[in-house]
Amino acid sequence: MNRYLKQLIELSQIDKEIDSFKPKIEAINKELNSILKKERDLIAKKEGLLEEKKDNKLKIRQHELHITELSDKLKEISKKSAAVKTDKEAKALQLEEDITKEQLDFANEEIQRLQKVNEIKDELILEVEEELKEISKVVEETKKEIEQKLANVEKQREEFYAKREKLLSKINQKILEFYQKVRKWAGNTTVVPVKKQACYGCFMRINDKTFAAVIKSEDIVTCPHCGRILYVEEIEKEE
Ligand SMILES: [Zn+2]
Repeated sequence: MNRYLKQLIELSQIDKEIDSFKPKIEAINKELNSILKKERDLIAKKEGLLEEKKDNKLKIRQHELHITELSDKLKEISKKSAAVKTDKEAKALQLEEDITKEQLDFANEEIQRLQKVNEIKDELILEVEEELKEISKVVEETKKEIEQKLANVEKQREEFYAKREKLLSKINQKILEFYQKVRKWAGNTTVVPVKKQACYGCFMRINDKTFAAVIKSEDIVTCPHCGRILYVEEIEKEE
């Protein structure tokens, strides 16, 4: 086989390997991101509960203020009732007193209800805090694992870069430029095998003359349809 072609096949394989690291790194980071998202969601849940609790406390405070007002009003009514002159006045005062007491009852009930709601929220907050503690541990562990995994991947990638550098120093500059020109649009299918007399880049059948040239592999042959660099695998040659 042509020495240049051999080098290009090797280079294309190395380039493909180097390209495969990006999705590998993304997959590793995705692992951490999904756990971090869970952590963020829990923090948001806790903040939501605290916010609701705060709102309820504010409502309780308003009810308490209202109770003070209502109590004052009741005192007022009792003062007035001591000085009533007519039945009509007495009845009107009585009605006012009843309404005020109802309002008092309602305010007290609301305070109790809201306090109970907040107690439940406290329990939920404790649960979320427990979950957060657990997940923080997982986050720390995962970060360590991922650091290790990324370091390994980086090491592998460096090895391929080194191989590539070594190979590039040996490759003819014109041939390399040609390869890079095709690679711009063909990416990892710049150098493709011919199988069953078809280009494995565009999957079109190649003519007998080109096929014969590819089998001979004395020169660098490109696909007449797509322009990719072609080679024949040893097994294919025997057939
Ligand atoms: Zn082709």
